[in-house]
Order: sequence, then C-alpha cells, then structure tokens
Amino acid sequence: MPQLGFGVWQVPDAEATPAVAEALKAGYRSIDTAAAYGNEGGVGEAIAQSGVDRDDVFVTTKLWNTDQGYDSTLRAFDESLKKLKLDVLDLYLIHWPTPARDLYVDTWKAFVQLQKEGRVRAIGVSNFQPAHLRRLIDETGVVPAVNQVELHPYLQQSDLRVFHAQHGIETEAWSPLGQGGELLNDPVVTEIAARHQRSAAQVVLRWHVQLGTIVIPKSVTPARIRENIAVFDFELSDEEIAALSTLDRGGRIGPNPDEFN
Ligand code: NAD
Repeated sequence: MPQLGFGVWQVPDAEATPAVAEALKAGYRSIDTAAAYGNEGGVGEAIAQSGVDRDDVFVTTKLWNTDQGYDSTLRAFDESLKKLKLDVLDLYLIHWPTPARDLYVDTWKAFVQLQKEGRVRAIGVSNFQPAHLRRLIDETGVVPAVNQVELHPYLQQSDLRVFHAQHGIETEAWSPLGQGGELLNDPVVTEIAARHQRSAAQVVLRWHVQLGTIVIPKSVTPARIRENIAVFDFELSDEEIAALSTLDRGGRIGPNPDEFN
C-alpha cells in the first residue's frame, strides 16, 4: 500500500471522476473511498479510463454501518465491487465499530471469508478503539491490517499508535490536514513551512510521512492535488518534528467512535 493516497470524502460522484483522474496523473497510486461517500462509481470510472494498469492502483473502500452483519456485508461488498468496476479489491475496511449495534465481530468474520475467497487482498477497520480491536483479535484470531483513524498534529493518537505497533496494525490517518482548517495557519506549522519554502499542507503531510502513518489527503483542486503528493523531496529535522508534536490537543473534529452509530 502506498504511504500517501488520495481521499474522496465529500466529493460528489460526478466530480470524483475528474478528481481521481487528476490524482492518477499527478502520480497517486492509492485511492480511498467508501460506500457512504456515494462516489464509488465515479472513482471506478476514473480508474477504468486512466490507462494506469489495474495492478498499479491500490483501491480502498469501506462498509457502511447499516450494512454490518455477516450476510449483509457480503451483499454490500458485491455492490461496492460492481460500482468500482473491479474484480478484486485491495483493502476493505469496516467504516465505524458502531458498538451499540454489536455487529462488528460478525462483520469481521464476513471480511475474513471474503479475503479467503481472494476477493479482497487485505482487510482492516476504521475508527476502532483499542477495546474494539482487542475483541476482534480475541474472538477471531485475525488481526486487522490497518486501522484508519482521525489523526493530525492536533490529534496525534499516541496511545492508539502504541497499541497498533504492538499488534502489527498499520496506522492510517484520515483528515490528515485537519480538514484544511486552523491547523494550516498554526504559527508552528507556517514557520517551519517558510523555512523549507513549502506550503503548510506539505509540512503537515511530511510530518505524517516521517511518523510512519499512511495518509490520504483530499482535494479537488488540481494544483493542491499535485502539491500534496510532492512531499518526498525534503525532510523535517528532529527539532521540527518535536515542535509539531507539541501541538497535540487531543480534540476530535469527527465523532467519538464509542458513540457513533
Ligand atoms: P483533509 O485533512 O484531507 O483536508 C481536506 C481539505 O483540506 C480540503 O477539502 C481542502 O479544503 C483543504 N486542502 C487540501 N489540500 C490543501 C492544500 N494543499 N492547501 C490548503 N488546503 C488544502 O480532510 P478529509 O477529506 O476529511 O480527510 C481525507 C480523507 O480521509 C477523506 O477524503 C476520506 O477519504 C478519509 N476520511 C475517512 C473517514 C473515516 O471515518 N474513515 C473520515 C473522514 C475522512
């Protein structure tokens, strides 16, 4: 899985095709969508039209909360694959644990089955807390390859990252730019950016890269799409990484996974 990919949350279906086409042209080889985004069709169209070899693109999609459960997962997977126009998916994620439904273990068993059948290469989860991860592992013996969670300098998820490292789970950061808000105007970020003659977004993405997290920044603006992948030709010093690491506030932009259904 490439460490840096392209996210398409909030991109309407029709706009997803030109946006993903632009991303593939800019060199992205990993696309992150979800059934709930309503744009798997547009993403699939862009991949099919791109001329990029299918095996060179890593495609992630996610199972929505209302489709959790063994049989409904198998049906939802078929639907996603059809929309994406793919025979095999690269990574399938349970979008949220939705603990109040208490279906994520059954859902995970369906994921394990899909992987056994060779219909998906890797299986993982999103927004899982340590207690949810522990339960999956204890009850099925199958460790998720990835946990995709909200993560940026204002919410660094240090305890969760330690848990992931102990269990061999890759950490993937959603909203890696903090959704482009206050974070990109933070003086600590902008000062480092000025020093490197880079944008604030590039500094934040480079922080993720050096931290070892997988990142999937989103943009529909061609110049930003190109800017966000141009982060492999400069390096932040240990002091700069340390300065960015002081920004953690522990506050979420998105919902609390223990409560979201
Ligand atoms: P993000 O942190 O990637 O921020 C995107 C926003 O930042 C853009 O809409 C734009 O306003 C701004 N931006 C982007 N590039 C910029 C640049 N170079 N300079 C200035 N501003 C810039 O936020 P996101 O879209 O929430 O997260 C990225 C991806 O993560 C999503 O598209 C989606 O694929 C995934 N995601 C997953 C979940 C989940 O529950 N699993 C939740 C949210 C997002």
